[in-house]
Amino acid sequence: MNKKKYSKEEADERNRASKRRSRLRNPEKSLAQSTACRNRMRVENRLFIREYKENHPCRCGESSVCCLDFHHLDSSVKERNVSALSKSPVSSRRLKKEIEKCIVICSNCHRKLHNGELEYEIRDIL
Ligand SMILES: [Zn+2]
Ligand SMILES: [Zn+2]
Repeated sequence: MNKKKYSKEEADERNRASKRRSRLRNPEKSLAQSTACRNRMRVENRLFIREYKENHPCRCGESSVCCLDFHHLDSSVKERNVSALSKSPVSSRRLKKEIEKCIVICSNCHRKLHNGELEYEIRDIL
């Protein structure tokens, strides 16, 4: 047996065990840390979405952030609703990837779009 490899595995195991012990000793602290981290991600994602909407008003001229939605251009690639995604602690990379599949549209136009009263082609926004 390779002695060096064995001792590294041993060290890893010791390391894991000590982390486990400190989690057990201090469960509140590690819970608080991960909650803080998730909250920070949520806040950052919300801010990112807000800024993104501010920079992408609807084609009709509506630019109030509260009236703007994300519409997936191709629902077959839709992973999750962007606003739902922004409320969960996802990485900003994943959020941006989802936003790239969408256009920003105001809720009125969004309804018309889904009702077939409005055509919104990808080329309109490129
Ligand atoms: Zn839609
Ligand atoms: Zn609109």
